[in-house]
Amino acid sequence: MAKTIVNTKEIHLKGKTHKVEKISPVVYKVISGSSGSTYWVRLSDVDDGAICSCPWGKYRPRAQQFKSGCSHSQAVYQFILAEQGRTTSAWGDKESARRQHRPIVDLSDGVLLTTRKARESAERVVERMSPETAERVVERYSSLLGAEEGI
Ligand SMILES: [Zn+2]
Repeated sequence: MAKTIVNTKEIHLKGKTHKVEKISPVVYKVISGSSGSTYWVRLSDVDDGAICSCPWGKYRPRAQQFKSGCSHSQAVYQFILAEQGRTTSAWGDKESARRQHRPIVDLSDGVLLTTRKARESAERVVERMSPETAERVVERYSSLLGAEEGI
C-alpha cells in the first residue's frame, strides 16, 4: 500500500465539510465544502475504497485500482457509515488503526478508517427520560457547570 497522503487526520476533518448525495448504491456526488466544486465518487467493486474524479483522485495509479484516499472518498465513507449509526476515525499507519480494535476500511494512499457505533447524543438520552428524571439531571448538571453560564 503506497502511503501518499501524510496529513491523514486533517484530510479526514476536511471530509466532514463536504456535502454528499447518494446517486446510486455505488455512485455519490460530493460538493466540496471549501471550493464548492462537484466531484464524483464511485465505490470500488473490488474491495474497500473508492475512485474519485477530483484533481488528486484522477491520477491514482492502476496498482491501487485507481482508488483514492482523498477527502471526497472519506466523506462518502463518513456518509455511508453515519447512515449505519457509525462514526469514523482516520489513521495513517496500520499499527494505530489496529490498536482501535474496530473494523478497518483501507481507502488506499495510506489512509485507513476505523469505525465505531456513534454514541447516543445527550439530547437523545434526555428525550427518552421521564420529565421528572430529565429535570433532575438538568438540575444536577446546572449546579455542576454553574447555571448562570448557561448550558
Ligand atoms: Zn477526491
